[in-house]
Amino acid sequence: MITKLTDQIWIVHGLNNGRYPYSHSLYIKDSGILVDAGADPDEIDRLREGEGIETVMMTHYHEDHFTYLSRVPDAQVWASEADAPAFGSLETLLAYESAAGTEWEAPYRKLLTEKFHFTPRKIARGITDGEELLFGKTRAVAVVSPGHSQGHLCLHFPDEEILFMADYDLTEFGPWYGDARCGIEDLRRSVRRLAKIDARICVTSHEGPTYQGSIAEKAEAYLATISGREQALREFLRKPRTRAEIISRRLFCGQGNDWWWLDYAEWSLFLKHMDEMMLRGEASFEDGRYRLLP
Ligand SMILES: [Zn+2]
Repeated sequence: MITKLTDQIWIVHGLNNGRYPYSHSLYIKDSGILVDAGADPDEIDRLREGEGIETVMMTHYHEDHFTYLSRVPDAQVWASEADAPAFGSLETLLAYESAAGTEWEAPYRKLLTEKFHFTPRKIARGITDGEELLFGKTRAVAVVSPGHSQGHLCLHFPDEEILFMADYDLTEFGPWYGDARCGIEDLRRSVRRLAKIDARICVTSHEGPTYQGSIAEKAEAYLATISGREQALREFLRKPRTRAEIISRRLFCGQGNDWWWLDYAEWSLFLKHMDEMMLRGEASFEDGRYRLLP
């Protein structure tokens, strides 16, 4: 499904309301720009044959955003400079997704190539924070917002007062900050920066997808899930715990589903909380166990 925010700026709705493995896309008609390629294969095919897709601008390198990139082999691909290397190399992608060197590297590699059709793409244009992009008469300002990925790219259309926040998706699950080169503090800063941008309509990559008016309150509720997770973690670490115990407890991702990806997610998020707590001198790792310090 496609809905039009303005004459030029369209939303290509992700299947299943943009829940993983799908994500909502924007389409800017004037220059045939598709923002992300994980929405809906039929709509992407239709756009390619109809209005045309000249360029796919990637908000970041996560698989649910590039699923159908292989259906537009002739389009240029743009991404932020910081995320660009992941599009050209599966090894770099696995490293950025913090799966390299773990027991999840092999299944992740299989997932990326078989289910998400990863094919290396050269980035034709590397985008940096604050850059102004002109698509016909439509102006967009790049907002590089680290935390979800290091080069996570949001787009602000100042004339239309529209902000595409991509994976700062305001969902109930809360934010993802498990990638290499990312940290919780970066993420907080990015979400608060986005919430301050004057926008009439915010669009996200998952669920939603549109939010009218100020998102300040929603953004704080979204960030509050981080302290909720930390609180649960503190409770659990009252007793020293091993890596295996932490993963199988599934404090963040929930129990009852033994899909390996959730173990990967659990551990990746856990490590970011440990980074913060160790830095503050509140937790330690000794004799194979993580513990709270008195
Ligand atoms: Zn993502």
